[in-house]
Amino acid sequence: LTERVVFAENGDELSRLSQMFNEMMDRLELSFHQQKQFVEDASHELRTPIAIIEGHLAMLNRWGKNDPVVLDESLNASLQELNRLKTFSQELLALTRAEGLSASNHPEMEPAQPYEIVNQIVGDFQMLYPNFEFELQLQPLKSICLLLPADHWKQIVMIILDNAVKYSTDKKIIELEASQMENNRVQLRIRDYGIGIPSEEIGHVFDRFYRVDKARTRLAGGSGLGLAIAKRLIETYEGQIEMASTENEGSVVTLTMPYIRRKL
Ligand code: ADP
Repeated sequence: LTERVVFAENGDELSRLSQMFNEMMDRLELSFHQQKQFVEDASHELRTPIAIIEGHLAMLNRWGKNDPVVLDESLNASLQELNRLKTFSQELLALTRAEGLSASNHPEMEPAQPYEIVNQIVGDFQMLYPNFEFELQLQPLKSICLLLPADHWKQIVMIILDNAVKYSTDKKIIELEASQMENNRVQLRIRDYGIGIPSEEIGHVFDRFYRVDKARTRLAGGSGLGLAIAKRLIETYEGQIEMASTENEGSVVTLTMPYIRRKL
């Protein structure tokens, strides 16, 4: 794919054809690169839901036989996660086909109900990480819908929470605080008190495969894809993601999204 036609730019038919050929090759090359990248992205994204299903299965194994409530809850939660995995893997494949996903071509978009979704994810994380404290101020998310599919909102929040847990140290507190902004936008800030990010690195955290401290983040299970995926997803739906951080003090990720009031 590195071959290109060398041509003289004299405006004749042949030089225009050569130029077209070279541009096609560029697009092909980019598309091959993106396909490869998406395969990597997809496998990364499977990790957290699989861990949640694993947690529920362990609960089933230990208590499910005697406790119908655990049986019911864990089966339902696992099925839900499996379903989400299925939907999301299909969506990722769709993403690889289109050069970029756009909000308008997303089929059957069901707007996300952020209050319920965030509470549910935090519940799952609390189960997976019982030594963490999650402090929630989510009132502004009640009775609104976000203009993106629920699966994508869930994916974004899970990526950020997964990082907050992974990069926390002694102070295992994670705060989630929502607030309404002007122009029908809502913000969700997710704060941790972990290792933080040096100021000279913060500009790169949304790059694919970028890890601040490779050895340390690999130990934590990081592959450097999560934030790139979160950014691509949220920007597809006209949202924004920002990160602020102080080394050894912690980080705060701010998600800003357009919303509509929920129909009563
Ligand atoms: P990873 O899977 O490695 O966590 P991400 O794309 O989610 O990939 O994050 C990129 C890098 O940014 C991480 O490897 C880590 O070095 C840094 N990072 C992300 N979130 C945090 C956080 N909450 N605290 C400290 N560092 C973080």
